[in-house]
Amino acid sequence: MSQLTFLGSCREIGRSGFFVEDRNESVLVDYGVKFTEPPSFPDMVPTDELQAVALTHSHLDHSGGIPRILSQSEASLFCTPATRDLSTLLLRDMYNISRGPLPYSRKDITLVKRQCQATAYEETVPLGHHFEMTLFNAGHIPGSSMVSVRVNGKRILFTGDFNATESQLNPGARKNLPKHDIVVTESTYARRTNPNREEIELALMDSVIETLERGGTVLIPAFAVGRSQEIMCILEKHGLPYKYPIYLDGLARAVNDVLVKHPEYLQSPQAFQRAVGRTHIINDNRDRTNAVKNGGVIISPAGMLKGGASHLYFKMVHDNPNNSIVLVSFQIPGTPGEELLAKRKVTVGGRLFEVTADVRQHHLSSHSDSRGMLDMLLKIPGEPEFYIVHGESESCDALAERLEKRKCVAHVPEINESIEI
Ligand SMILES: [Zn+2]
Repeated sequence: MSQLTFLGSCREIGRSGFFVEDRNESVLVDYGVKFTEPPSFPDMVPTDELQAVALTHSHLDHSGGIPRILSQSEASLFCTPATRDLSTLLLRDMYNISRGPLPYSRKDITLVKRQCQATAYEETVPLGHHFEMTLFNAGHIPGSSMVSVRVNGKRILFTGDFNATESQLNPGARKNLPKHDIVVTESTYARRTNPNREEIELALMDSVIETLERGGTVLIPAFAVGRSQEIMCILEKHGLPYKYPIYLDGLARAVNDVLVKHPEYLQSPQAFQRAVGRTHIINDNRDRTNAVKNGGVIISPAGMLKGGASHLYFKMVHDNPNNSIVLVSFQIPGTPGEELLAKRKVTVGGRLFEVTADVRQHHLSSHSDSRGMLDMLLKIPGEPEFYIVHGESESCDALAERLEKRKCVAHVPEINESIEI
């Protein structure tokens, strides 16, 4: 008898975790954090019989608790080499800035590298006596995977976060997936339709060029992993004139170094290399002041203006109508980015700023939208049963409803619910 337990990301985004048991063996897929105060993690699982931990991708809502598991188990971690290296970066960063206590030490983060068995896409690996695992490209960020687990004659697909559409940085998710009996899918944008990617790129370029031509500076607050590099690639692909410098700040700088080492996960390693070659790396506050003074494009975390170097730049660019602040992701309600879009004023570091700089939003999603998601899920052969996670409660229900309309069986599991396989 096998069992699958949903440890987290049930009617929420954050703390992903799935536990599969068969007889006396078990496998864990993802073990992430949710950024509550203090940070929350899925319930601890028994580690004595744990055969392996599989990690879909490096984002902390999937990887943030992995060191806790590895510190209590000899089990190997299976993920792509890019995910291994990006996770180590993000975990260290989280450890340095965490306000609450974490259930592991700084030293435990080194276990990600030490216990990792780097796995290539499409490679099938036996885990213990009862399991087999294969990773498929998920198209979400470099190195991201869908995890397919075979147990007890059944095949379960954990989609992780996925994007079926290719971007300037990532090839799209693996098409033509093999037969599965159960699919545990994300539903982040189950209620959204994204405009055509090329159109968004062109609109973004227009915003950037307009600002630069009137002598202004463009601040693009962006996530360190994936989005910052995609912006670099877009500016390169659409021919931003070389007279306008591009600057990169924050953790995105170290992410670049990792991606240069793992070019096999990029849509075009040559284009990325060219983009890296023309990007100026910011090292200190003097560089930051000069970058704003010189005019150009500044890419800096955090993506929703929640902190990091983006606050320093914001204070320097907000009060000049020649400048612009370009937001490139969905802005979660309650974040400074969302407040800025809605009101043209924003509280940063406890102070309210009136913003006269131009504010734009061009949403470059790294998830499939409702159409792309449904299209990919319906193409999975084997008439799988769907379990919908990793979305706001309404998004989980919306995707379940749409799948049921197409004669599929779909469930929205509750946290710590177990099903028999
Ligand atoms: Zn993600």
